[in-house]
Amino acid sequence: MTAPPLLEARDLACHFKVSRPGRRRGHALLKAVDGVDLVLQRGRTLGLVGESGCGKSTTAKLVLGLMPRTSGQVWLAGEPVDTAAGHRWRRLRRRAQLVHQDPLGALDRRLTVGYQVMEPLIVHRIGSRADRRAKVLALLQAVGLGPDVATRHPHELSGGQRQRVVLARALILEPDLVVCDEPISALDVSIQAQVVNLLQDLRERLGHTYLFISHDLKAVRQISDEIAVMYLGRIVEQGPAEDLLRMPGHPYTQALVSAVPARAATGRRRILLEGDPPSPIDVPPGCAFHPRCRFAQDRCRGERPTLRPQADGRRVACHFAEAIAAGAGAAA
Ligand code: SF4
Repeated sequence: MTAPPLLEARDLACHFKVSRPGRRRGHALLKAVDGVDLVLQRGRTLGLVGESGCGKSTTAKLVLGLMPRTSGQVWLAGEPVDTAAGHRWRRLRRRAQLVHQDPLGALDRRLTVGYQVMEPLIVHRIGSRADRRAKVLALLQAVGLGPDVATRHPHELSGGQRQRVVLARALILEPDLVVCDEPISALDVSIQAQVVNLLQDLRERLGHTYLFISHDLKAVRQISDEIAVMYLGRIVEQGPAEDLLRMPGHPYTQALVSAVPARAATGRRRILLEGDPPSPIDVPPGCAFHPRCRFAQDRCRGERPTLRPQADGRRVACHFAEAIAAGAGAAA
């Protein structure tokens, strides 16, 4: 029997009313997230990838109940995640933690590192003072920091050290789920691989489950068992990481994968996307990707594709996924 998923999200949506630039009256609907389904098994890593502004970070907040949903539902270990305050919300907070993209912004520069890593234990009234201190030192060691760091302040540390502190703070409550929202985007390239390696190592040793959000497909590939590709608030392809990267099915995924340096070195032609992604206020009708798609047909301009399972188990939101996979996309 298959184990129930640790995280399940169904039909997640987050729409905002915004004023239209340059117009005095009238509002537009900004669809930051528009009908996202996610399933994540315990001990696995799901990579969520897509260009900036596609709705990845909003999805992270919706999953954690940190912002209101327009529609949809989220369950963590079978328990509904809601945005209301209260006992149940506090219990869920212990079980799911967020690692922010900006480690300096996530830490208080006036407080010592040791206190900030310990703070969740104090808030949740866990352990004696001695237990808490021991746990902080053990966790600092687990993330590759010496005990001396506990008495220092965030501004005395490097960017990579600060992100390790943020990670230690997120892990101190031993959460089931860790949502990493662009955890390496603010770091030097030389440090990025170290942080991804550390996340991998911690997962192997402590059995964490990650939702790893990044625009960097190279990092997502390194850590993920499964990948979901997001475009303008919707998932356009989802499947096992290796399969998806070896044979991307959606034209948007094909373009992303072709831009990864290691792939480019194999001699595969780089697929350049024309123009920037449209604004989520003016999502094109039909397939939202059609203005940039080299395979677009009349049907794509009028009918929105749904995420459909393919023969290999992957799911692709494209009317012509089978024909494109068979190499006949241009004639589809
Ligand atoms: Fe391209 Fe049409 Fe497929 Fe959208 S549905 S990805 S426009 S071929």
